[in-house]
Order: sequence, then C-alpha cells, then structure tokens
Amino acid sequence: MTQTKTDLHLAIDAQNLRRVYASAGREVVALDDLNLQIPVGKFVAVKGKSGSGKTTLLNCLGGLDSPTSGSILIQGRPIEKMSGTELTNWRQKEVGFIFQAFGLLPTLSAHENVELMLRIAGVPRAERNQRANEVLALVGLEKWSGQRPFEMSGGQQQRVAIARALAHRPNLILADEATGELDTQTSHELLDLLQTITKEENVTILLATHDGLVDEHVDEVMNLADGKLHS
Ligand code: ADP
Ligand code: MG
Repeated sequence: MTQTKTDLHLAIDAQNLRRVYASAGREVVALDDLNLQIPVGKFVAVKGKSGSGKTTLLNCLGGLDSPTSGSILIQGRPIEKMSGTELTNWRQKEVGFIFQAFGLLPTLSAHENVELMLRIAGVPRAERNQRANEVLALVGLEKWSGQRPFEMSGGQQQRVAIARALAHRPNLILADEATGELDTQTSHELLDLLQTITKEENVTILLATHDGLVDEHVDEVMNLADGKLHS
C-alpha cells in the first residue's frame, strides 16, 4: 500500500506495521505488514484469539513498544520518529490505557488513583481534584471516590481504571482486554459506558478483545489473525 498524505481526521493511521520478536533463536512475526486507519471519534474493536498480536498492536500504537518497521501516525503525528522523552511526554498527554487486570494501586482510593495519573501528566494541583471528581462522576462512581480497590467489585474497579484513563483528556484510549475479567452483564455495562464516553468526550477508543460481546457496542469490528487484519 502506498503512503497516504497526512490526514488529521484519522486518529490512527498505521502503514505496513511489522513487529518481529526474536525469541529463543527463532523469529515470531507478531504484526505482519498490518495497515489500520481509524477516524477520530470512533469506538473500534480489534478481535482476535490469544497470540494473534492484539497486545503488540496496542503497545506499538501507544508508544510502549517500537515496531520493527512501518509507520504510525496518531492524529497526524509520526510517533515512531519521536525520541524516548518526546514519546513519554506525548503518551502522558495524548493516550489513555485500560488493561485487563485494572492496574489500580491497591493502597490508594479511587480518587487518589485518578489524581495520581493527573499529577504524572503535570496537571496543576487546583485542577486535579476537580477533574478527578468529574471523571469519577462520569463513570458513575461519585459516591465511591473514597473507596480502595479491594472494597469495590471488579466492574467498579474497571470504572475507576476508565476514569483514570480519561482524566488527562487524551485523544486516544487503548483498552487491552478491558472486559476480560468481568462477567457478561458487567461487560455489557462497561461497553455501554465506553460507547457513551466515545461520543461525549470526543475520544477514539480502540479495544482489543477475544470475545464477541463487543459487536453491538462498537462502530467497527476488525479481526486480527496471525498479525494481519481482516474486516
Ligand atoms: P495477543 O495479545 O493477541 O494475545 P500478543 O501481541 O501478546 O497477542 O502476541 C503475539 C505473538 O507475539 C504471539 O505469538 C506471542 O507469543 C509473541 N510475543 C508477544 N510478546 C513477545 C515477546 N516479548 N517476546 C517474544 N514473543 C512475543
Ligand atoms: Mg494480549
């Protein structure tokens, strides 16, 4: 595929993305010349079995991993050209991550978990408290902000993780198996919430998953198999 010109209406524009791991003397091709374009403001699922390359794809798009070759434009910016420091700064401003295992700090309350992310992103103190309250309300946890993770259900913990991912107003949210630990009913509630957030907060959400629950919630489903995408 030829390189298209920079398009700011694309949240993600990945071309010929390849990621090869060297593992115990042999090569594993996790992403195989993959192309992906996602317009701004969409909620998109990448579905694929375990080992199909979902985590590798999200890590490359979020600047946590570097592709072996290929180009990645996020909102028109070529992230593979950034230095380590530039990438860290960019990620802290522009990207929110949600993981399967929630990744909350167990000794901190919901409010403190969200606020810590804002502090890392360099948000001034006066704004942090207000924004933390705002996003916790958005995910329906205004009454739970003082609770610590172990005092909450899995669904509530994942809501805190969603609030944390949103707090610094990223343009892009990358969610890796975000419902993987949750029962069907709770998964549907969270997918509903992500759908609402995509519309109300004007973010783009890319959700990697191996289950079929997502179909009715997302704008588009892409299937990943052996490092290649199929619509
Ligand atoms: P998924 O998230 O869909 O389960 P991954 O992106 O984790 O898929 O893995 C894709 C492929 O890359 C698999 O074959 C996996 O074994 C391999 N892989 C992932 N991470 C590494 C690594 N750090 N070293 C070697 N191989 C890896
Ligand atoms: Mg994975």
